[in-house]
Amino acid sequence: MAEPSSTIATESGDWSLETLAVRAGQVRSQFNEHSEALYLTSSFVFDSAAQAAARFSGEEEGMVYARFTNPTVNMMQERLAALEGAEGCVATASGMAAILSVVMALMKAGEHIVSSRSIFGATQQMFGNILPRFGIETTFVDSPDSAAFAAAMRPNTRLLFIETPSNPLTEVLDIAALSAVAHAGNALLVVDNCFCSPALQRPLEFGADLIIHSATKYLDGQGRVLGGAVCGPKALTEEVFKFLRTAGPCISPFNAWIILKGMETLALRMQQQSANALQLAQWLERQPQVARVYYPGLASHSQHALAMRQQKTGGAIVAFDVKGGREAAWRVVDHCRLLSITANLGDTKTTITHPASTTHGRISPEARAASGIGEGLLRIAVGLENPADVQADLARGLSAG
Ligand SMILES: *Cc1c(COP(=O)(O)O)cnc(C)c1O
Repeated sequence: MAEPSSTIATESGDWSLETLAVRAGQVRSQFNEHSEALYLTSSFVFDSAAQAAARFSGEEEGMVYARFTNPTVNMMQERLAALEGAEGCVATASGMAAILSVVMALMKAGEHIVSSRSIFGATQQMFGNILPRFGIETTFVDSPDSAAFAAAMRPNTRLLFIETPSNPLTEVLDIAALSAVAHAGNALLVVDNCFCSPALQRPLEFGADLIIHSATKYLDGQGRVLGGAVCGPKALTEEVFKFLRTAGPCISPFNAWIILKGMETLALRMQQQSANALQLAQWLERQPQVARVYYPGLASHSQHALAMRQQKTGGAIVAFDVKGGREAAWRVVDHCRLLSITANLGDTKTTITHPASTTHGRISPEARAASGIGEGLLRIAVGLENPADVQADLARGLSAG
């Protein structure tokens, strides 16, 4: 059987993140191309009947069929594994496919998930409304306190699932403390590292067992394709790979190629977008129409110290409560001429989202209130535009009331 991903080449062991981002994982073909090649082929041919048999039985490594082997996908997996400091990485069709694959590969009916409440809307839907039909229950924890997570653990808890910082409120969870909670209960700590990317936070270093990525976000970074990934020790990623190769939520080679090339500028983008986000958060704090700003890079953030221990910067997502509820929040959105009104994030183009009526709209009002997602809340995913232009765009709607 072909490997889902091989270990990082030994010479890359000493390379820094910036170097890994442009160099890790590349395998050149017979043509010795400088830039990574895109292999748009669904299947591969064998030299002989014996080789075909050896490839199928797994005796010989190599390409077979693109549902589970493709050179471009392999390069993407290798590069992301290197950036996360992970032994293995399995790419998936989307971030949600990555989460589903982890559950399907590692859990069975009768088992239990403990999850933070403030997670991506679709993840909350999957855990709360879809998995129960298959006998998997989830307890959502409202508090960022590790004691609250410990109290939610049951003997059948298999996964402790968190997002940090969370979407959209940028709540920071203590990865090291929660890893201890998970391991004390013989469960695995799964961290959705979408908001930081490995350029800002490497959860495995704090004791996480698995990392989830929506590569759709910062890894691509330019809003072009969907993709996802699961990173971690081979013993776990190989289980995920076994599910993927059979069930098929795999990434297309084209999307993998876009993400592979997108990762080359990841460190630079994250650094600049974080700087722009900090500037915007500081500006928002000074606006009289803004009741509260949520940004881990601000000293006023309730978990600022923890965030600075785990993350290189506060990240590029800023959320804030506008005084005046939905009407005032929608007014800010509708006065934007530069910012894109979209639910997407992780793009070089700054986006604005009203979570209560979009990304978190399908969640019951009670659950939304429990998550702290109010009607006046707006989320800005800060891009690469000049911060002054972004501020001017927001100022128009803020002062229109
Ligand atoms: C977008 C997102 C996902 C889901 O990823 P898709 O690629 O859209 O399936 C999961 N987690 C977080 C934090 C996200 O922002």
